[in-house]
Amino acid sequence: MVDLVGQYEEIKGQVGEAMQNVLETAAFINGPEVHAFQKELEAYLGVKHVIPCANGTDALQICMMGLGLKPGDEVITADFTFAATVEVIALLQLTPVLVDVEPDTFNIDPKAIEKAITPKTKAIVPVHLFGQCANMDAIMELAERHDLFVIEDNAQGIGANHTFKNGSKAKSGTIGHVASTSFFPSKNLGCYGDGGAIFTNDDDLAHTIRGMVNHGMYKRYHHDVVGVNSRLDSLQAVVLRAKLPRLDAYNNKRRAAARKYSHAFQGHPDIVLPKTVNGCEGICETCDCHVFHQYTLRILKEKRDSLVQHLNENNVPCGVYYPIPLHRQKAYVDERYNEADFPVTNQLVKEVISLPMHTELDDEQIAYITKLVIEFLNR
Ligand SMILES: *Cc1c(COP(=O)(O)O)cnc(C)c1O
Repeated sequence: MVDLVGQYEEIKGQVGEAMQNVLETAAFINGPEVHAFQKELEAYLGVKHVIPCANGTDALQICMMGLGLKPGDEVITADFTFAATVEVIALLQLTPVLVDVEPDTFNIDPKAIEKAITPKTKAIVPVHLFGQCANMDAIMELAERHDLFVIEDNAQGIGANHTFKNGSKAKSGTIGHVASTSFFPSKNLGCYGDGGAIFTNDDDLAHTIRGMVNHGMYKRYHHDVVGVNSRLDSLQAVVLRAKLPRLDAYNNKRRAAARKYSHAFQGHPDIVLPKTVNGCEGICETCDCHVFHQYTLRILKEKRDSLVQHLNENNVPCGVYYPIPLHRQKAYVDERYNEADFPVTNQLVKEVISLPMHTELDDEQIAYITKLVIEFLNR
């Protein structure tokens, strides 16, 4: 699904040298590399504060702690996402409220959010699934109208641009009140272990969170709030500093691969191509809204499972993200949920397939994969 070795070859010299320097200076935690990466990421995103932490799941949890959400507060998020999103809501004893997604972008459906808002609702967590922003115009409007926080789960969307209805643009993760991201190795900006970060333009919230990631300490050995231990290693910051200047180029390579896939599959009666928020099928040359963390098709006529098997038999990796709606996962079942409220997620889990997507995909590989898929569907 991903090829991290090819990418490593290109930055090997730089990473090796900088890691050696960290080893020799022994500044393993919160050293100068972490600080420099934080500043560089703030500049790239155009956001006032980046707070590095240990992973994307912690980042989400700390966002919710920083906002002061309390047990019983309702937090609305997508039914079709990675479990980490709902996990931290439940862990903090907040009440997760899962809602359906849109069939074309796979992102949380603002109409479903609106329907789920109650007097107890405190926050919305849009997940920028597979690499493009959720409908942030509608979500920010809802949040303002109902006085809710918006926490962007930007683990899959780093580097994506969102174009608002008025034509202005912003990077994903800089639109809501606060955002989280993950630097897990296979993410678009991945390190060589675990890593994550929180972004915000709110000075007070940034201050609160900076203490929270370090045991609630704002002054050494003075613990003002209950915090956690969640820090980014200097060795991981070295990798991220080498990759950040290349992130746009990495994302462009992913877009180019997505365009080639979509060209090959266009018009096939059994395939629904991934659509961008702008409505294009991931084919247009100018679109910068999608960073294709995953290239995900819908396979119609109940052929998805047999296609997965066929690709596996031919040594082509593929993934089903996600095979079970969160509202049906044992840990998150709740009698409040009604199957009729999840028609899209319930359908998507039966139809989606993600094809190999990374920066090292070449034309020969794409041609082989697309031929295999089309021949199978046509037989
Ligand atoms: C990867 C991911 C996370 C969690 O990130 P980790 O760094 O693995 O903890 C959270 N949300 C989404 C949508 C993700 O894809």
